[in-house]
Amino acid sequence: MTNGLLEGKRIVVTGGASGIGRSVAQVCASAGARVAVADLDRGLAAAAIAELPGSGHVAVALDVTDPAVVDTAFATCAAELGGIDGVVNCAGIWKPREDGPITRVTDETWDKIIAVNLTGTFNVCRAAVRVMEPQGAGSIVTVASVVAITGWEKLNAYSASKGGVLSFSRALAIECGTKGIRVNCICPGVIETPMTEKVLAYSQPTVLPIGRLGRPEDIARTAAFLCSDWAGFTTASTVVVDGGFSAA
Ligand code: NAP
Repeated sequence: MTNGLLEGKRIVVTGGASGIGRSVAQVCASAGARVAVADLDRGLAAAAIAELPGSGHVAVALDVTDPAVVDTAFATCAAELGGIDGVVNCAGIWKPREDGPITRVTDETWDKIIAVNLTGTFNVCRAAVRVMEPQGAGSIVTVASVVAITGWEKLNAYSASKGGVLSFSRALAIECGTKGIRVNCICPGVIETPMTEKVLAYSQPTVLPIGRLGRPEDIARTAAFLCSDWAGFTTASTVVVDGGFSAA
């Protein structure tokens, strides 16, 4: 059953084997898109596409920190899907035990988080623009976090990486506007996924105006809208999806 919002669209989802990315793949496929799920483990990516409605979906192995691997993966996706209309950057890491206090943050932790979250987003967006520019059309969705706006005590590298994703997304949107490529950044609040489940098991945010934690589909539906033609005048936007958390 599809709702047709993304009928005929071809969408690549990084980090699509888990959490928010997996939900993005499901929502986009349900809306009529053919989806490429790109993740570290090809087997998990294949398991994710096996659950999707519709046909013609693709699973690819991808480490976003390796630019050559990203370029090859995007060439594969473009060839197998016949082009790429949308890219949703969901690959990311969060290391709350290692990311603070600052005097205990190692160089390795800092480098790893920046490499995956920020440089990885750059690598993926560059590969996406290389495919979309000759098409004259495309939509790129980046995924930062509310911490890109608020910062978060003892999440030093993560906050920096997500602040970088937000600024980079705006810069890229300005550059790409007249190329027909829209770029928008979603800032999720606290979403129940494999990334957060251990921490949420013993500590939950107390101030959530909407009265519940976020679900992966809360972010996925926003991403699907941003990939769709209904968002045709929406670019360089920061879309906060946090149940009111950052305002409270
Ligand atoms: P998740 O369930 O852990 O999913 C992230 C996916 O990215 C996993 O499949 C992971 O693979 C993959 N990945 C990690 N490193 C990668 C790499 N180098 N190359 C390619 N794929 C890689 O996390 P999530 O909660 O869905 O988070 C998705 C995005 O939303 C992240 O950018 C996260 O920072 C952001 N976000 C999440 C929340 C939240 O509350 N959950 C809030 C704000 C922002 P492995 O599992 O094998 O590592």
